[in-house]
Amino acid sequence: MSSLPGAGGPIVASGSFSEPAETSWQRELSAAIRSVEELLFRAGLNPDNLPLEVATQRIGLNLPDARTLTEFPILVPENYLRRMKSGDPADPLLRQVFALQTEDDRPVGFEDDPVGDLQARNQAGLLQKYEGRALLIASGACAIHCRYCFRRKYPYSDEPRRIDDWAPTIDRIRADSSLTEVILSGGDPLTLNDSRIRTLCGMIDEIPHVERIRFHTRLPIVLPSRVTPELINLLRELRAQPIIVVHANHPAEISGDCEAGLRQLVRNGFPVLNQAVLLRDINDSADVLELLCRRLTGIGVLPYYLHQLDRVNGAAHFEVNPELGQSIIRQLRIRLPGYAVPRYVAEIAGAGSKTDLM
Ligand SMILES: *Cc1c(COP(=O)(O)O)cnc(C)c1O
Repeated sequence: MSSLPGAGGPIVASGSFSEPAETSWQRELSAAIRSVEELLFRAGLNPDNLPLEVATQRIGLNLPDARTLTEFPILVPENYLRRMKSGDPADPLLRQVFALQTEDDRPVGFEDDPVGDLQARNQAGLLQKYEGRALLIASGACAIHCRYCFRRKYPYSDEPRRIDDWAPTIDRIRADSSLTEVILSGGDPLTLNDSRIRTLCGMIDEIPHVERIRFHTRLPIVLPSRVTPELINLLRELRAQPIIVVHANHPAEISGDCEAGLRQLVRNGFPVLNQAVLLRDINDSADVLELLCRRLTGIGVLPYYLHQLDRVNGAAHFEVNPELGQSIIRQLRIRLPGYAVPRYVAEIAGAGSKTDLM
């Protein structure tokens, strides 16, 4: 389809008359890499198109069971792939999205719901752990599948999908005047199209005690074309203060149109914060995290949290010893201005806030 995106553009029926035509970010998402074969080939790791077994053994990246890949498939947008170093099996971006055999391990201490999401679920699609803030599972979809995802086992299919299904959840937020902030999370809320976001945010925006609407999203990092003028306008029209929290882990992620998209958000006046996860062999060094924080602050994005890995089944190979994390943060405090050093935290099920690890 070749129509222009967004408001004022032509509305073309695509399956349903109520949905606008697919915009460029939606086309990019549809075209994302969804198999190990394709990922290996496109990352320059199987240039001769050898059988999968041979190719993976050759580079020392053995695959998990087919069932693991069916339950949590490979998903990588082309734009993110382009920021990888071709032919490098140790590339820090590739490692975030490449499924390994160790995902099938079940080490002691690792669980399906390590952060206690299901015990905090007090209404369909609503998690409430902390005072004043409630988190919506606004969408089960993401634009990328991070292999360390702490919600990789979350039962998304139980959550509201159609707008009408959100009514009881919105009613609950309206009835609780202690809630001053609603966080749209998931999944990733920016996988919803603009009209869906406008409707959902509109219902929240009408609740007078909601002062802030926060978006927890990785799309500006992994699918920068999602940051459109239409999205920015939609956010500007909200009464409540929008706050954007993105998720980048490595300086190589912050380049090209990703940088431009983040700058758009910042220059339009939205607070933009970053959360990162401390990941073994990806960003577990002061040099890498220093560069990440510099790149972020250089475009006005403030480092917010550095998360200790949540101990979800399948992610054990990403775990970093907290003592290493603490020594990295001590280094960052020496090397960077205070505002550029993220808070190193863990999420402990049942705690009243994220837990400071320093
Ligand atoms: C992490 C989280 C928040 C946000 O916590 P902040 O410390 O305010 O960033 C809110 N609700 C839930 C359920 C969370 O997991």
